[in-house]
Amino acid sequence: MPYFYLHPTSGRSWLTDDPYRWLLDHRDDDLLAPARERLLLSADDPERCIRAALRRCGLALVRLINESMIAVRHWSEPVPDLRTWAKEFGWNRSDIGVSFESLKAGKVVVRQDTEDLLAFGERVGPDFPWPEYTARYERRHTDEPDDGEPAPVSFTNFTWEGTPPERLTWRVLKAIWTAEQVACPNCDVPLVLISFDWQKGMMSFRSARIVRHCLRCRRRFEDSEDRPLEWLVSVLPAPLRPTNLRLWAAIPIDWPRPALAQLLPTCADR
Ligand SMILES: [Zn+2]
Repeated sequence: MPYFYLHPTSGRSWLTDDPYRWLLDHRDDDLLAPARERLLLSADDPERCIRAALRRCGLALVRLINESMIAVRHWSEPVPDLRTWAKEFGWNRSDIGVSFESLKAGKVVVRQDTEDLLAFGERVGPDFPWPEYTARYERRHTDEPDDGEPAPVSFTNFTWEGTPPERLTWRVLKAIWTAEQVACPNCDVPLVLISFDWQKGMMSFRSARIVRHCLRCRRRFEDSEDRPLEWLVSVLPAPLRPTNLRLWAAIPIDWPRPALAQLLPTCADR
């Protein structure tokens, strides 16, 4: 089975059948400059060459052991980020074991991909209503009589007149799903928005939090948005925009500007 050299900081990787030979063939590359002296001095010592490259050039060496196991050699903690490589070469699958050998510490740790080593985002379990969301997503361009119903598991602190608090209706979700195109970093298919909220800390607003799921790899992705009202304008037509943001009280939103009205009693806008 082949090997890959990975350069985790740049996300680049190189396939080779002979990791020692590869170093000698590439020792004039900029990438290997920090180890070049060692590669010249110890050219007949494969293990020393490999250790020098891992230590001095920040490389990791991945060995494919079989269809469900890979072994990664690296210099020190933290373990290298394998996700970009795993996506590029189709190893972002479930049920793959990964052994990490830290050369500096001289220890080997075996981990499973359940620790989110090979795919981006967080795994979402079977309790999430996947079939319901999948069916609604497929019908996102169609109006249905019950689109005004709140979607299970959705969440928001924006409010709409006549809808229960803390939930998004299917109608709002469908409009957002149609308007935005955010690709899954694992599968490249569009992510499906589940929730968004905008909270205020002691002194100032935090960034809004947007949570999306991938219906294919069933993982969760959290994004932040510094201009949530402008974002809402971009994803929701005027009749579907929320009327208020609920913090300590329901604060009306002035959409034409867009801005929160009467944020504080002493607000200069009053
Ligand atoms: Zn995905």
